Amino acid sequence: MIKRRVVELLEKYDAIFIGSGLGSLVCAAYMAKAGVKVAILEKHTITGGFATSFRRKKWEFDVSLHAMSDCAEGGQLHDVLQELGIYDRLRLEKTEILYRCVYPNGSFSAGSNYQQMLRELIEQHHEDANGLKALINEFIKLNDELRSMRRGLPVNSTIFRKYKNYTLKQMLDEFIQSPQLQMKISALWGYFGSPPDELSAIYFVNGWVEYHLYGGYYPTDRSQSISNLLRDLIISNGGHILNRRKVNKIITEDGVAIGVVTDKGEEFKGHYIVSNADLQQTFRDMVGFDKLPVDYAEKIRKVEPSCSTVQAYLILNGDLRHDYGEEAHEIFIHETNDYKTLADDLLHTREERLPFCVTYYENIIKGYRDQGKSTVSIFTLSNYDDWCDLDEREYETKKEESLKSLINRMDHYYPGVKQKIEYAELATPMTVERYTGHYKGAIYGSAKTVDQLLENGVNQVTPIKNLFLVGGWTRNGHGYSGVMVGGARLANMLLLRRRRQRIKGEGQTIC
Ligand SMILES: Cc1cc2nc3c(=O)[nH]c(=O)nc-3n(C[C@H](O)[C@H](O)[C@H](O)COP(=O)(O)OP(=O)(O)OC[C@H]3O[C@@H](n4cnc5c(N)ncnc54)[C@H](O)[C@@H]3O)c2cc1C
Repeated sequence: MIKRRVVELLEKYDAIFIGSGLGSLVCAAYMAKAGVKVAILEKHTITGGFATSFRRKKWEFDVSLHAMSDCAEGGQLHDVLQELGIYDRLRLEKTEILYRCVYPNGSFSAGSNYQQMLRELIEQHHEDANGLKALINEFIKLNDELRSMRRGLPVNSTIFRKYKNYTLKQMLDEFIQSPQLQMKISALWGYFGSPPDELSAIYFVNGWVEYHLYGGYYPTDRSQSISNLLRDLIISNGGHILNRRKVNKIITEDGVAIGVVTDKGEEFKGHYIVSNADLQQTFRDMVGFDKLPVDYAEKIRKVEPSCSTVQAYLILNGDLRHDYGEEAHEIFIHETNDYKTLADDLLHTREERLPFCVTYYENIIKGYRDQGKSTVSIFTLSNYDDWCDLDEREYETKKEESLKSLINRMDHYYPGVKQKIEYAELATPMTVERYTGHYKGAIYGSAKTVDQLLENGVNQVTPIKNLFLVGGWTRNGHGYSGVMVGGARLANMLLLRRRRQRIKGEGQTIC
């Protein structure tokens, strides 16, 4: 049996974070800047969770990021990055073309001017012209309300209340009839992981407006640079980040979280414990359902995870812009003309029918790689259950077939691309699970459905005193922007609590 030892590095921290995803990093950075002693325990060898890059031989790949929203002036993430003093150092590039959508009978591009895209769509769908204009107006008004609500400003939330229980599909149905136009407007659904007839309209509209009106951004030195800058900020303010530390247990005493135990048997004591790990690990494995109120344990058990992914990482000996005239960095390819069977295709991972996304990084960052090469990822959603019970041979075979299928599908649109591949690798739902520990290889935390929105979702505050949550599994987090803004919000709450406790005289218990 591993003997527990209390870490001597610091006897006690003010706040211990389980996992070093962006939610944790932002929260810890704010707290460290405010003079709080923080420690982050990360099971992996690299800091950043999904916001990391990895090397294979001489190639470097971004694990996840296609584009971030909310980074323009007025955006909440913009303000968070400014407050932390890292906005300028990220050297964010704004995408000129947000994405290009390909369909069996045509294509359209979403540029930095969304009005242009609307004109294009109206030309293609005269019959729905008025409905489309009304829909986009409604999107914008709804997002204005959401922006004000998130900032805690007084707001007459009539539009929000109307659509709060709508799926994206229900909202589209009120304005436009053409299934193909509906499909075009929902092209970004893959960024949320649930098909339009399950996806919450609120999540989608927020993302749609932020990307189309204010732009998509990408840091010059890949997503790893966000994590590294936050890591350096934490360390320079006296915080500790310890990699290769998997937390196995959250220690509670009389319903209060007081510390954690790692797989190395180390015990870390902390006043606040913040988990960035998934909900099942946090509550089933680390706390124990028996320590929770029955209805809360039941709620956690029932949380639906978001989808997982298969993603091919490729280096091409060639330049997609030069060889194929590709001007976009994000290309959504649909091989059907409507989304009628999407939910079913997703459930049964009929990969050949699911839309897929080609991300071509050289079109965002000039000189991303050596000249004449292309760094590309091919991304589609995948169901964990199709992978988890395979034995080693079956798994390797399925992986090979899946990689081949993605490459063949891309080759159909970029003929001859197959011959240009210098390096190819596939990540599967099992890869996601292995690296992040996320339940069922979920890539966006909890599924962004109506049933899990706002008060139906999981709060950052838990019934275990001094145990908090941050990241994609909470109702405050979706994608890069959501989890970082959620991290800032939690930091503000904890710093306020700390001040109040100090005033009450409990401060002496906090080191
Ligand atoms: C392929 C892909 C593409 C994506 N594209 C985009 C995009 O273009 N734009 C966008 O906005 N979002 C995108 N996302 C989503 C975005 O990456 C995530 O929402 C966000 O990074 C999640 O941050 P988080 O704070 O929840 O932590 P995560 O990144 O989920 O990190 C959690 C961390 O906790 C650690 N951990 C887990 N269990 C333990 C334990 N027991 N002990 C110690 N450490 C533990 C994990 O190792 C991990 O480092 C994408 C995601 C994926 C996978």
